[in-house]
Amino acid sequence: MSLSDIKTRIEAAAARHGRDPADITLIAVSKVQPLDRVEAALEAGHRIFGENRVQEAQGKWPGFRERFDGIELHLIGPLQTNKARAAMDLFDVIHTVDRVKLAHTIARIAEETGHCPDIFVQVNTGDESQKAGCSIDEADALVAECRALGLPLKGLMCIPPVDEAPSLHFALLAKIAGRNGLTGLSMGMSGDFEEAIAQGATHVRVGSAIFGARDYG
Ligand SMILES: *Cc1c(COP(=O)(O)O)cnc(C)c1O
Repeated sequence: MSLSDIKTRIEAAAARHGRDPADITLIAVSKVQPLDRVEAALEAGHRIFGENRVQEAQGKWPGFRERFDGIELHLIGPLQTNKARAAMDLFDVIHTVDRVKLAHTIARIAEETGHCPDIFVQVNTGDESQKAGCSIDEADALVAECRALGLPLKGLMCIPPVDEAPSLHFALLAKIAGRNGLTGLSMGMSGDFEEAIAQGATHVRVGSAIFGARDYG
């Protein structure tokens, strides 16, 4: 697989479901990947990347930003309150706002700095204790809180449980977004981004299908 294969598959999935492929953003998830693979994607013209750890991203992206214009970085991993400032410095979009305290911290820093990344609220649609995200029941209230704080809230994000049909989770996330008047849907990974597109995904987060398997060794 490669970047262009994934783009072709996104376009085909969009066409099958009567959607404009321009409404679907491909976030190339570069966490843990060797730098030469990430650089190859940059050389090929890709500019939108996802990372799940602030510290790892800090070591990698300032250097790439010096060499490549127009990089857009998305934080897709859990965010600790004490890393919010660093995350807001580095990332253009944060997909993982999942609690009121974090929303308040981001709002306070945004007021101080005059700058705030776009925000997605992460919903733990599978109700998994080991996973980040607010519960389904808390989602409407957290969305309302983000709005009351004036955060640039763009949509919702989820990571379905590995052992369940992802489409049900994507449909649920779309339903919660719809009733809250949100259009952004960050959902779909290497194994299920076409199903996510069928359910309305606006941001798919694809790592291993572009870069190869991650080597955590
Ligand atoms: C790692 C990761 C991805 C990409 O996963 P792949 O299966 O490699 O495509 C997507 N979303 C999140 C939140 C991730 O942590």
